[in-house]
Amino acid sequence: MHSLPLLLLLWAVGSHGLPAGTLKTQDDELLVQQYLESYYNLRSDGKQIERQRKSSLVVEKLKQMQEFFGLKVTGKPDADTLEVMKQARCGVPDVALFVVTEGNPRWENTHLTYRIENYTPDLPRADVDHAIQKAFQLWSAVSPLTFTKVSEGLADIMIGFYRGDHRDNSPFDGPGRNLAHAFQPGQGIGGDVHFDEDETWTRDFRNYNLYRVAAHELGHSLGLSHSADIGALMYPNYIFSGDVQLSQDDINGIQAIYGPSKNPIQPMGPQTPQVCDSKLTFDAITTIRGEVMFFKDRFYMRINSYYPEPELNFITTFWPNLPNGLQAAYEFADRDEVRFFKGNKYWAAQGEQMLPGYPKDIYSSFGFPRSVKNIDAAAFEEDTGKTYFFVANKIWRYDEYKQSMDAGYPKSIAAIFPGIGSKVDAVFQKDGFFYFFHGTRQYKFDPKTKRILTLLKANSWFNCRQN
Ligand code: ZN
Ligand code: CA
Ligand code: ZN
Repeated sequence: MHSLPLLLLLWAVGSHGLPAGTLKTQDDELLVQQYLESYYNLRSDGKQIERQRKSSLVVEKLKQMQEFFGLKVTGKPDADTLEVMKQARCGVPDVALFVVTEGNPRWENTHLTYRIENYTPDLPRADVDHAIQKAFQLWSAVSPLTFTKVSEGLADIMIGFYRGDHRDNSPFDGPGRNLAHAFQPGQGIGGDVHFDEDETWTRDFRNYNLYRVAAHELGHSLGLSHSADIGALMYPNYIFSGDVQLSQDDINGIQAIYGPSKNPIQPMGPQTPQVCDSKLTFDAITTIRGEVMFFKDRFYMRINSYYPEPELNFITTFWPNLPNGLQAAYEFADRDEVRFFKGNKYWAAQGEQMLPGYPKDIYSSFGFPRSVKNIDAAAFEEDTGKTYFFVANKIWRYDEYKQSMDAGYPKSIAAIFPGIGSKVDAVFQKDGFFYFFHGTRQYKFDPKTKRILTLLKANSWFNCRQN
């Protein structure tokens, strides 16, 4: 499940399928209605609300939803908004229900029990047990909570698989969309987790990974609500990037309720990059079909003219086979090919299509000596057909057409690009200029005059206010 498949559209046609505000189909209208009722507390309690009042409520709820997902806040069900609404997700609302109990719900007792009431036929029982146990471990590792499995009687957290209406006022909806829900801490149904039995549950990358969904739902069982941080497990939409781990945002959330872990060394989770943080640095940057893509940890960022902020999402959204923490990337535009580097390996893609036969090693493909263990940055120069590879304070130059390293290399960075320092984190070439990144600094460099034109903040491309 890609979390923003609409952006693939952008790549293919260079424009949106539908301009904002275009009349949607009847199905879409129903989707908007149901989505806002389910997740944004748009009330349809059977009472006849006058049409105008109703539509202004819909606009208000749409704006809330767009704000939550970082979409352009139009109050209209535009194409981007509809795409997000079509994604598979958790059934728990993003905004609190109309009647909210005051204060944050929490378990008073930190030693909790759970019971798996029934099993899905999709997986062997042992796999279900294992997925649930691992999901609990994520949360117990970062908090004072402990979880004990019981096999009969009532447990604090009852877990089961149900389809359609299962008499808790929160019916499931058949395959897709609404995958599961869980109830906040409390007596009776409080804390319980329900999975939609109409889904196919898996233990791998196929939809839907039970461990991934269980890890999210248990967050609700313990008192957390949805997070707008796309890197957090508590983000409402289903995103499976291969590994399931609590982000720092999830850890902050659970510790705000129950306090720190008893572990003397507090566990940390990955932070999601903040695109407008002036301390932001990059792992790798490349052009791709006229756009610029920035890579950091598990994420890519790119400027998107349809959004107020740059888009940030998992690298695996586009390239499921790529590892986290890329070190260099460049586009060989003549072949419409982007190459990604990590350690002594590299991968190649055309658009979102990974090319077969990768990863390959950098020694046999480019002719690097074995002493080169990884590449810091790389950029292709269109005028010359050469690719510059940055390795520590040296540059190797590769001829893409002869497919060999140029003689006389490596040379020092200072000899070829004077003034940019002796280390490069990331680089790309656009409109004849090189943009070099080191830490939070960025140098715009003119290769014709061999001069730095401007010194910028690394995230200057993102149109942040402070830049
Ligand atoms: Zn949820
Ligand atoms: Ca469903
Ligand atoms: Zn339920």
